[in-house]
Amino acid sequence: MPTALNSPRPYEPGPSASGRPACRDADPALFFPGPSKRRELRRVRMAKQICSTCGVAAACLAIAVLNGEPDGIWGGYTTPERQALLWDARCLSRDVSDTVRQLERGQRIRVRPLDCLPVLHALSQRGWSTERVGEALRLSPQSVLRARERARAATDCLTALHNADRTAPGTANTGAVKALE
Ligand code: SF4
Repeated sequence: MPTALNSPRPYEPGPSASGRPACRDADPALFFPGPSKRRELRRVRMAKQICSTCGVAAACLAIAVLNGEPDGIWGGYTTPERQALLWDARCLSRDVSDTVRQLERGQRIRVRPLDCLPVLHALSQRGWSTERVGEALRLSPQSVLRARERARAATDCLTALHNADRTAPGTANTGAVKALE
């Protein structure tokens, strides 16, 4: 992870991380865009491009989430995107087994908005097609595909969070992991 004047501590790959941070030789300012809107967008795009080639992106993102990093692009995610990812991860932790059972029995029910993502994830894992999930949740196929991608990213983040918690005990704030449980 690059450093900047206001940077959180640099990301140091732990024992579970493999690969080399792709930003090692990049301009740190790219990862901490300033207030200028136009330049900022360009920097965010460039930083995300670098992160997309990084072999330790999942671990980098997990460290940022664990530490509650308030700034910067970590693992290809901006601060608002990390907050959205955490929100999705919390949603995925909801117990929706009753709702899923009802839908599997073919009951026409209205799924509460907060339960939509975990229900969609559970149904997808059971092999339901995009169209069938969309019909059950009253969503367009495009919305189902977007939500599936969000669920996948949140699941990956949860896995990385739990790995980071296990491999670096005491080195990170575990509040984020606890908040998700
Ligand atoms: S994910 Fe991005 S910010 Fe994190 S180490 Fe890799 S290149 Fe650097």
